Amino acid sequence: MSKIAIGIESTAHTAGVGLITSEGEILSNQRALYVPEEGGIHPREAANHHSEKLPYLFKAALEEANLTPDDISLVSYARGPGLGPCLRTGATAARAFAYSNDIPLLGVNHCVAHLEIGLLEGATDPVLLYLSGANTQVIAYAAGRYRVFGETIDIGIGNGLDKFAREAGMGFPGGPKLEKVAKGDELLDLPYSVKGMDLAFSGLMTAAKQKLDSGHSLSTVAYSIQEIAFAMSCEVSERALAHTGKKELVLGGGVACNSRLREMTAIMTEERGVKCFVPDRSLCVDNGVMIAWLGLQMMSADYKITEKDNEVDQRYRTDMVEVTWR
Ligand code: AMP
Ligand code: MG
Repeated sequence: MSKIAIGIESTAHTAGVGLITSEGEILSNQRALYVPEEGGIHPREAANHHSEKLPYLFKAALEEANLTPDDISLVSYARGPGLGPCLRTGATAARAFAYSNDIPLLGVNHCVAHLEIGLLEGATDPVLLYLSGANTQVIAYAAGRYRVFGETIDIGIGNGLDKFAREAGMGFPGGPKLEKVAKGDELLDLPYSVKGMDLAFSGLMTAAKQKLDSGHSLSTVAYSIQEIAFAMSCEVSERALAHTGKKELVLGGGVACNSRLREMTAIMTEERGVKCFVPDRSLCVDNGVMIAWLGLQMMSADYKITEKDNEVDQRYRTDMVEVTWR
């Protein structure tokens, strides 16, 4: 029998409420983005934004799908990783909705949700290149868990782009703004930091700011940042594909909205004879649909909800999740 889950996302800057059926039909994907007035994300202010917006997002999602709480069989929320105040706000909203309507409640891993939504696109056993604000990981399934094959050892790629854009006076979010101005006339010499299977972006962004300060145009610097950061990401994903022998790549995270990244991964996967799955932009960014979808996957394998599943965990790593539903 078809089931419907509601998913609540609140790990960082996005408050989201999504509805999806167990057949994968998306019924609603409501999102609200916290944009800091100045500087980076302030966790408490982002949480205040979420607590203000979430009630309206619940209402809008149910109205769009023409559903009542009685139609819903699972409330799923992002248990972590993320910013403490933001996670607690989302979890509180999820608990309130679940308990007042007597619906089972399950906290799920945000990064795993980015991977699982790629399976909805048709992938079966992919390598995920997950490029978001705070997270940068290359993930694939092996022996009962989603393993992290490579990851950033300093900042997330999106936070790096946002920080550079902020220092260049462009506002938030920086990634899409940089994409708009990036023009390929000249490739500047910037640090290309792949260490084994891991990545580092901090030095690249600092060097890029120095290039800007020394008189190079914003379009050239933005272009060079994209070329270098995305080439690094492609290199690590390609090596993960080679090591694992997997034949599918899925893109996830907000930075996966970038057309140049999509182009570079398309070239790499085509040359390797690997299929590349690129979810719709509304499913690449943080969203409630993927949280609901992962909850349904877990429950489909008769997952037994315990008290732990009602908590939040700021450091809930991808590889801490026992994958029982595959
Ligand atoms: P997420 O944390 O997955 O919601 O992703 C948010 C991050 O994605 C932010 O750091 C944005 O700057 C970045 N982002 C969104 N769109 C783009 C784009 N078109 N190009 C590069 N980065 C982007
Ligand atoms: Mg994310």
